[in-house]
Amino acid sequence: MKILVKLQLLFTLMMTQSMAQNFSIAIHGGAGNLLPKNFSEEREATYRAALDSALTIGYEMLQDSASATDVCEAVVNYLENNPLFNAGRGSVFNAEGQHEMDASIMDGKTLNTGAVAGVSLIKNPVSLARLVLDSSEHVFLSGPGAETFGKSHGAATVSAEYFHNERRYRQWEKANKKSVIKLDHDGDADMEEKKHGTVGVAVMDVFGNLAAATSTGGMTNKKYGRVGDSPIIGAGTYANNATCAVSCTGHGEYFIRAQAAFEAHALMQYKGQSLQDACNTAIYERVGVLGGEGGMIAVDSKGNVAYAFNTAGMYRGSVRQDGEKHIAIFKTNSD
Ligand code: ASP
Repeated sequence: MKILVKLQLLFTLMMTQSMAQNFSIAIHGGAGNLLPKNFSEEREATYRAALDSALTIGYEMLQDSASATDVCEAVVNYLENNPLFNAGRGSVFNAEGQHEMDASIMDGKTLNTGAVAGVSLIKNPVSLARLVLDSSEHVFLSGPGAETFGKSHGAATVSAEYFHNERRYRQWEKANKKSVIKLDHDGDADMEEKKHGTVGVAVMDVFGNLAAATSTGGMTNKKYGRVGDSPIIGAGTYANNATCAVSCTGHGEYFIRAQAAFEAHALMQYKGQSLQDACNTAIYERVGVLGGEGGMIAVDSKGNVAYAFNTAGMYRGSVRQDGEKHIAIFKTNSD
């Protein structure tokens, strides 16, 4: 009898441990006109290395049982600090030749969220969004008010020069002359312009909790305090333990109109679609039919990972508890 009880205990312990080790993380660094012919080997390697480092940060934290929201924030911070991407330090210029950044984060367990729009002096907008989630009675703050809140809660601030990047400036000058508003990685741009993007992360942690976060400089030459999908919960970001965690990238106006991230969740919850089917439907049959371009990454409550995009490519990657990383850029890359 005693032996049986001991065996049962051992079995339960083993099951809990193996369950507790399940986790997954998916990331993106923007979607757009990313064609293999436009990439030198070196450039491709640079982007792959950045995605790899981001995944390593997330993987190590998840192995140490960090929460999904902490992992989202830390990985987005890394991408925000990397000028390769259109978020934080690498943010594009708006029509006034300045930077206005948007970010959001959502906890799939509590459905609590934090979002900020149009901030200019915050080093890591996603961390300000996290402060809103943790320490504000509101869920979405914008402009100078968001910055005042950030300063009073210890968010790191920087001067406008921190975001100044000669390459981005030339990109903006071109767009500004032509008076066009463009995605960071849109078509007729030069090589530099085609290869940067918004960043996003979706995570399932060892406790089975989901979270998602997105951060962006928005669209080059954007006007009038324009806000994209990235800080809008349900459009660019959504997480719900019952279904999935999603982060989007692309032409924000269409993702807002399609409520793309929430749509993926709703297709799983109400239609019983699989994670991959829900992402495909949201991108191809919702965003795509409106004329929008872009993509999304997602994880579900079983730790599955999905990507969907209707552009030539999307910087993307994922890793699960087995440690095998998947990193891809082009449509032709297998995920
Ligand atoms: N979705 C972002 C926006 O519209 C841009 C991007 O993903 O590159 O602001």
